[in-house]
Amino acid sequence: MIVVLKHGVTPDKKKQLISWLQNLGLRIHVSDGEFQTVLGLVGDTSSVDMDLVESLEIVDSVKRVTEPFKFCNRKFHPEDLVVEAGGVKIGGGNFAMIAGPCSVESEEQIVAVARAVKASGADLLRGGAFKPRTSPYDFAGLGAPGLELLKIARAETGLPFVTELMNIMDLDLFADVDVIQVGARNMQNYDLLRELGHVDKPILLKRGLANTLKELLMSAEYIMASGNERVMLCERGIRTFDDYTRNTLDLAAVPMLQELSHLPILVDPSHATGIARLVPSMALAATAAGADGLMIEVHNDPIHAMCDGAQSLRPDEYDALARKVRDIRELMI
Ligand code: PEP
Ligand code: MN
Repeated sequence: MIVVLKHGVTPDKKKQLISWLQNLGLRIHVSDGEFQTVLGLVGDTSSVDMDLVESLEIVDSVKRVTEPFKFCNRKFHPEDLVVEAGGVKIGGGNFAMIAGPCSVESEEQIVAVARAVKASGADLLRGGAFKPRTSPYDFAGLGAPGLELLKIARAETGLPFVTELMNIMDLDLFADVDVIQVGARNMQNYDLLRELGHVDKPILLKRGLANTLKELLMSAEYIMASGNERVMLCERGIRTFDDYTRNTLDLAAVPMLQELSHLPILVDPSHATGIARLVPSMALAATAAGADGLMIEVHNDPIHAMCDGAQSLRPDEYDALARKVRDIRELMI
């Protein structure tokens, strides 16, 4: 249920109403917007007399929220969420370019790629130190030393970085990470999501390989209901019957999620297609569809990449793409 307050309500009256609702055993999420304050009520609202609340002098309207997701529901928070990550703003008109290799391989590699993408205007660096691989025989990342190399690349370029956490036991190693990524395969690892609700860092939550948008939002809800509201969503392609591309990019997810939720929505055209030559067109389409940012794999030597070389752009290709993305953004403003 949401309670929209009238414009100009005094803080005292607002506080009184909130304590009264809390005494009914509800959790109250307060969203103070520029023009209105919205109270989101979480819990068993069946005992709340809607007519009574609506009749209060300070209340403008009361609505039931039928969706199972509350904290990530735009009805709870009408204004776009702006997530700040290492000094970079994402969402609410702030477009973020995240770029870097699939996995961190060496200091030379990550620093070279970080320098290149920075020169092309990237806002954040990406790179996996802990990699979820389909085969147990494939390179699974450098682990903790990989995180140290990301920190070196950050120190060299000033770019904050995003990196994936697979196991909650590794959380302590992520203390100095700017954004924690939850990969597609872990989107429904509910214990992990709950733990990330206690972390004071932005979380980039990728859509699972075969998950609905509602399931993605319910996973965001796990993190937010546990206390961390700095969540960003990422569409990275889903499984369909076609196998020419690695996955099928669900672009309609962008406007649909923006309607349902106030969280920033990013698009990863690299994992969505699996083919480097398709990445630019899908990145441009995602930009035009209104995404809040792009996450793109870039490698300085894709042919010899230890992971996902086939879908990685070379730095010069990324640079050309980044220019076109900026052109599209200009047209959209
Ligand atoms: C990644 O971004 O490195 C990754 C493994 O992607 P996904 O979880 O979307 O497969
Ligand atoms: Mn990858």
